[in-house]
Amino acid sequence: ITRFDGKYAIVTGAASGIGRATAARLAEEGARVLLLDRNAEALAEAVPTGDHLTRTCDVSDEAQVAEAVAFAQAHFGRIDALANNAGIICDRSQITETDKATWERTLGVNLIGAAMMLKHVGKVMQAQGTGAVVNTASVAGIRSGAGGNAYSASKAGVISLTMTAACDLGQYGVRVNAVCPGLIETGMTAPVFDYAREHGKEDRLGARAELRRYGHPEEIAAAIAFLASDDASFITGQALPVDGGNTAS
Ligand code: NAD
Repeated sequence: ITRFDGKYAIVTGAASGIGRATAARLAEEGARVLLLDRNAEALAEAVPTGDHLTRTCDVSDEAQVAEAVAFAQAHFGRIDALANNAGIICDRSQITETDKATWERTLGVNLIGAAMMLKHVGKVMQAQGTGAVVNTASVAGIRSGAGGNAYSASKAGVISLTMTAACDLGQYGVRVNAVCPGLIETGMTAPVFDYAREHGKEDRLGARAELRRYGHPEEIAAAIAFLASDDASFITGQALPVDGGNTAS
């Protein structure tokens, strides 16, 4: 498939997991990609074969976001797609234990970081009169469970941001959607997988999904690529669970 031939994309959190798989998928489909991540070392290893760019960027710092978007504009001249994917889990503490710093850090990256990317890329896409943004939310933003309260609230915020940004930008031909992944094996969830494997509880890993398995980064990348492509030309403001049926039950 070459849905992104001649198109330019930005992926945040591109050095690992879902972001890395998304950069690879978009590149495979013809896009030139700017990979952004705060982890410079891992970023260098994540670049797909071809003519792509990387830049170290912490999305929680608006100045760095603005510079990264200007860098994309200078090199690409346009931005067709944004996979707004960078995210963190600080801890899985109970509401009575979570400290304010955890709330601020988690919201600062997952929600405000995503909003700042949308702000700066949104301006470019608005001026172009076209573009597609896909935010990585989570099933944790739909139902309680994995990730702890600050993480879940940040992801519910991302779903809300998806709807409001879609309303603000729709009149300019810019679409904004989200994917809500279930449990995916990545760097973020490595401690969960390690613990389960060490304790012979591997079958628990997919237990909340109706398909009775956990997912792979490529399965989320495929959904992100769909929503970012013209195949989804009449879809905006939606949050698509890609979760093996987790939220169906
Ligand atoms: P990951 O840890 O493998 O990758 C996340 C990447 O984001 C890392 O390379 C990290 O360096 C980068 N990053 C973190 N903070 C950043 C910042 N401030 N600025 C720039 N880059 C930053 O995790 P993943 O599972 O691939 O996570 C990708 C997204 O998917 C996240 O938003 C996460 O919340 C979401 N998600 C993951 C799962 C899962 O089960 N793995 C489920 C639902 C949602």
